[in-house]
Amino acid sequence: MLATRNAHKLREFERLLPGVTLDPLPDEAGTPEETGETYAENALIKARSAAAATGRAAFADDSGIEAEALGWRPGVRTARYAGERATDQENLEKLHAEAPAGSALRYVCVIAHVTPDGAEHMFEGRCTGTLAATLSGKGGFGYDPLFIPDEAPGRTMAELTDAEKDAISHRGQAARALLAWLRR
Ligand code: IMP
Repeated sequence: MLATRNAHKLREFERLLPGVTLDPLPDEAGTPEETGETYAENALIKARSAAAATGRAAFADDSGIEAEALGWRPGVRTARYAGERATDQENLEKLHAEAPAGSALRYVCVIAHVTPDGAEHMFEGRCTGTLAATLSGKGGFGYDPLFIPDEAPGRTMAELTDAEKDAISHRGQAARALLAWLRR
């Protein structure tokens, strides 16, 4: 079970975990508050809550963007960067306004996998890049139109194909580590 209500994340994990059937979180499972101070704590809060509510193995990711020009914020508060109920567009515009073009960025993704017997495993991925001067591209989601990965110079994450994003993204790296562990 994938403990997320984010349709973009669900789509990416479906691509990244071939052969794994992912069930979405049932409505009655509820959505816990992300009160952790780290990605790992928040990923665990979401995965534990889903495993407890359904009695099934569940995993969740917590992810974010970190900008050197902002002292590596917003980090764990990425989804709430422009306010508690901020949209992806509002968050993106705030980053564009506050950090200079060309400054260093990184995406971080931490996955927590929790089984009903209480076993917990964590997996992490990172992707470094720089801030674009202007928004470009229609792929991906969130901050992707402003994120130029070091591994794809000259293009934003939103200009890459799904396969190109998956090969280098923070979520791709963390998901491949999860997949290797599931197949161990
Ligand atoms: P979470 O759902 O609490 O993990 O929040 C993740 C935040 O990071 C949201 O604001 C997302 O838009 C952003 N984010 C996570 N992964 C990506 C990505 O692959 N591309 C763009 N933005 C992302």
